[in-house]
Amino acid sequence: MTPQGYAPYATSPAQDAVLDAIESRPRPGDQVVLDLDGCLFDNRWRQVQILHEYAGERDCLELYAVQAEHFVDWNLDRTLANAGLPPKRIAQIHDDLRRFWAERFFSGDYVCLDRPMPGAVRLVRRLADAGVGIVYLTGRDHRMHDGSVLSLRRAGFPTPSSRATLMTKPSATLSDEAWKARALERIKRFGRAVVSIDNEPSNVNRFHRELPDALVVFVATDHSPLPVRPDPDLPVIRGFLRTDDPVPGIQRHPAP
Ligand SMILES: [Mg+2]
Repeated sequence: MTPQGYAPYATSPAQDAVLDAIESRPRPGDQVVLDLDGCLFDNRWRQVQILHEYAGERDCLELYAVQAEHFVDWNLDRTLANAGLPPKRIAQIHDDLRRFWAERFFSGDYVCLDRPMPGAVRLVRRLADAGVGIVYLTGRDHRMHDGSVLSLRRAGFPTPSSRATLMTKPSATLSDEAWKARALERIKRFGRAVVSIDNEPSNVNRFHRELPDALVVFVATDHSPLPVRPDPDLPVIRGFLRTDDPVPGIQRHPAP
């Protein structure tokens, strides 16, 4: 059973081995394809901020109770229930909150509220320093491009340059799956794509089919409610930390 839910501080020897393989597989000039949301970035902080803004703007003070750990998937009602809101109150605010959320979540101004997954910046920098091409392939659309660059810069990731490319979706109405399938054809022309990391089962399954020689890694954080499971042959990580990383004061969870 594939684990679900963010566990950014989880570590295990198996995860160490996958991270080793991600670092050792690419040669200079090869390409590594990296997703942003739910992969290099933990989006829960963006979500918390939006719900707290709603709490203030609508004087709906119960929503200040929402914290990052209340997000286990993309079900807004479940998040609110996890934060202690009763079903009746959730039903009252659902439609208005959903609209409020959507106006902000898919905005370039708000992507800067995400936090990088612990250990992710280190990994991507090492790859870039070794001469590996970095391709950030995201389901964010073009309107979120500049905010995404700022977010990458603030977090310390290599920013778009001769060595790093940020590919955003040309239209918000294009599905992420269709966009990534199209983008993959372009990426194949950049050079040999040898590693791909994503948190969406349909994406990792596609990359696995289309790049049979690549190391395709599933990040178990959250993903869309589509009834798709990642291919069981694919390696799974919970995050980018290793068993020997010192993270004082943080409770660890075992990775698969
Ligand atoms: Mg993602």
